[in-house]
Amino acid sequence: MRHVIIIGSGPAGYTAAIYAARASLKPLLIASSVEAGGELMKTTEVENYPGFAEGIQGPELMAQMLAQAEKFGTEVVYDDVVKLELEGDVKRVHLGNGDVHEALTVIFATGSAYRKLGIEDETRLSGHGVSWCATCDGFFFRQKTIAVVGGGDSAMEEATFLTKFADKVYVVHRKDELRASKAMQERAFADPKIEFLWNNEVKHIYGDELVTGIGIVNTVDGSERTIDLSGLFVAIGADPRTHLVHGQLELNPDGTVKVDGRSSRTNIPGVFAAGDVIDPTYRQAVTAAGSGTVAALDAEHYLAALPKETLARATAEPAAV
Ligand SMILES: Cc1cc2nc3c(=O)[nH]c(=O)nc-3n(C[C@H](O)[C@H](O)[C@H](O)COP(=O)(O)OP(=O)(O)OC[C@H]3O[C@@H](n4cnc5c(N)ncnc54)[C@H](O)[C@@H]3O)c2cc1C
Repeated sequence: MRHVIIIGSGPAGYTAAIYAARASLKPLLIASSVEAGGELMKTTEVENYPGFAEGIQGPELMAQMLAQAEKFGTEVVYDDVVKLELEGDVKRVHLGNGDVHEALTVIFATGSAYRKLGIEDETRLSGHGVSWCATCDGFFFRQKTIAVVGGGDSAMEEATFLTKFADKVYVVHRKDELRASKAMQERAFADPKIEFLWNNEVKHIYGDELVTGIGIVNTVDGSERTIDLSGLFVAIGADPRTHLVHGQLELNPDGTVKVDGRSSRTNIPGVFAAGDVIDPTYRQAVTAAGSGTVAALDAEHYLAALPKETLARATAEPAAV
């Protein structure tokens, strides 16, 4: 049995692993079978992760985090968790290959998936003009024309933020009114760089290497229009990856896992959550990494408070059962 099993191989999971491994907890990290490395594997240049003054490619940053976690003794399994039994002193983690691993603590760091438009070329041009994160990528669009898709608070926040860089920001919204709060709407309406394209949906994204334009269709009269631009920010929400813990961990109304204050403690003792799966607001690599640190330290404190006999059970051979 393990002291700690970490689920997820994004910045939160790898950082939790670095801390847990350096605390001699010999963590097992379940990295996923096809999506190891998390969301940053889908991007190119990361310019806002501290320590890399020249920027770093997303996959290279994740390779460095993995190497650092392994260097201190983290064991990584490239499979998916398919079932969790979290109640009680011993947690059971079931993998797709049929193995079941046991641990005294679990750190749940499965991240969050940005909703996609679901149109052709969206994935191909991700990181080449299509983005889900204004904070991450706004800087690349200085003096450019761009569009934001969405009508909620985050779309308004992204559009307003992006006017710091772009010369022109279209907001493409499929309805004729916004879901965003009144205050956010008013800020966006007052911004001379923002133009609303009401009752429109993005149907095409154009560009070979980089985005060069979008095709939009009016939802009322069906008319089509092409807009030349360099960037498309998709701000239609994100879904925390929580299906494994439904009915076990308490969730917030927005779908994120509920934790106790600034800690990573969930409603089940010994189960901690970190990264974008608990964060509806900031969703950055560095905040996820910080959150992974909190989870590893919380797990360490939890283990330190366990009776010696319980703790001793985790020193046995850490093989799958
Ligand atoms: C295109 C793009 C560009 C971005 N650019 C930047 C940027 O420049 N700077 C920045 O700070 N942030 C950026 N972000 C945001 C950043 O990537 C996230 O905030 C960060 O990755 C969140 O880390 P995380 O560890 O919480 O989750 P994730 O990175 O989402 O990792 C979660 C991991 O858990 C795994 N997992 C999920 N379910 C299971 C399961 N059942 N079994 C096993 N594993 C599972 C997933 O496969 C994944 O590997 C970007 C995001 C995207 C999509």
